[in-house]
Amino acid sequence: MPLKLYNTLTRRKEDFVPLDPANVRLYVCGPTVYDFAHIGNARPVIVFDVLFRLLRHVYGDAHVTYVRNITDVDDKINERAARDFPGVPLNKAIRELTEGTAVIFRQDIAALGSLPPTVEPRATEHISEMIDIIERLIATGHAYPAEGHVLFNVPSMPDYGRLSRRSLDEMEAGARVDVAPYKRDPMDFVLWKPSSDEEPGWISPWGRGRPGWHIECSAMSWKHLGEVFDIHGGGIDLVFPHHENEIAQSRCAFGHAVMANVWMHNGFLQVEGEKMSKSLGNFFTIRELLESDRFGGRAWHGEVLRLAMLRTQYRQPIDWTVKAAEEAESTLLRWRAHDVVPAAPDPGVLEALEDDLNLPAAIARLHQLSDPAVLAGSLRLLGFSATRDEIAGYDARRRGGGATVDAARVEALLAERKAARLAKDWAASDRIRGELTELGVAVKDNKDGTTTWEIAR
Ligand code: AMP
Ligand code: ZN
Repeated sequence: MPLKLYNTLTRRKEDFVPLDPANVRLYVCGPTVYDFAHIGNARPVIVFDVLFRLLRHVYGDAHVTYVRNITDVDDKINERAARDFPGVPLNKAIRELTEGTAVIFRQDIAALGSLPPTVEPRATEHISEMIDIIERLIATGHAYPAEGHVLFNVPSMPDYGRLSRRSLDEMEAGARVDVAPYKRDPMDFVLWKPSSDEEPGWISPWGRGRPGWHIECSAMSWKHLGEVFDIHGGGIDLVFPHHENEIAQSRCAFGHAVMANVWMHNGFLQVEGEKMSKSLGNFFTIRELLESDRFGGRAWHGEVLRLAMLRTQYRQPIDWTVKAAEEAESTLLRWRAHDVVPAAPDPGVLEALEDDLNLPAAIARLHQLSDPAVLAGSLRLLGFSATRDEIAGYDARRRGGGATVDAARVEALLAERKAARLAKDWAASDRIRGELTELGVAVKDNKDGTTTWEIAR
């Protein structure tokens, strides 16, 4: 049966036909790295990991390229770096923050059973590609420089808004457009903006500045996947304005009818029926679910969280509940009752997945399987590999033993880091901080000049 995917661009489920079956190309917008990822952020990671695994199964592991970027230039990053690293030069503070957060993100999503993408490009390493695209847009009349900024001129693209299918009024409201005197049209959006001396910035034809968010994905997908590729994904909130603007930039720069053939969007996650928010106290980071007792009074194995996430069709909103996590755990324990060598996955499970990742149907099928080897093979296809013992004792082990780190080693590394920083050897200090993060240690540089640490996981 051919793979069918729901395409936001056409609002239809379509047969998937790759541009090149020898290199199927998938791009998913990745995290902005300034804080721990929350369980809502985990949804696109897990959903598109299942798609990545399915594509690898269908086309062969070597024939799928999955790009998920890291956004490491953003004004939220600048603010957080200045707050959390007082006294450290801003560019160094930004590096420490973004690199540390990226390491934590990778650990979190690995715990959820997700494979690393084929390429994980960082925005700051693609500034020249961004400048290249902006220059093409200016040359073709789709963008204009103004007061140190460069703006994309929305009226220059007749079918702007095709993905979100919104009226211009709705788009204006949705984009919460800033009225700036240098804009030709209120809908015009920023491709490049000027940086003050303190802010991170790169030399460009329009002066020292930094990119807007949307241009980053156009540049990284172009560099790693080409002018047109197969599938672009992300959460439903990204349809407008982010994806609409990515499309505008890439199509106008390269002159194609589409940027990607298929656009896929996961639904939003809410907690126990309510929007997840810090003020409601129902905001959970992935790390908290894996390591603390904040959700349901206990810690949860990553594959339990994965199954709880996959029980709902990916386009539907998901209600994240303790009850669903408990059910996912007992289901996994039952499925893992036998320690067997995995066989080829069940054709019924595959058929369900090929129907626009129909995971509820795939899971219903798993419940019917009687051969433990086929069950294990099907679970492996879906990214489940933990044994019964790993899952069964997880919370108790976390409480009993707790995380252990070698305190003497941590102190030695901190001393080395202090020396490196006094010598202004930022490369060494970054490396040491990375080592500490790998050890699961969170370092805090206090305002009074002292440094303290704690176990972060
Ligand atoms: P952000 O860091 O807000 O750019 O989000 C990173 C990714 O997580 C994007 O693909 C978002 O669409 C997705 N995302 C953010 N919040 C949620 C949520 N509550 N439920 C599902 N996906 C989310
Ligand atoms: Zn993007």
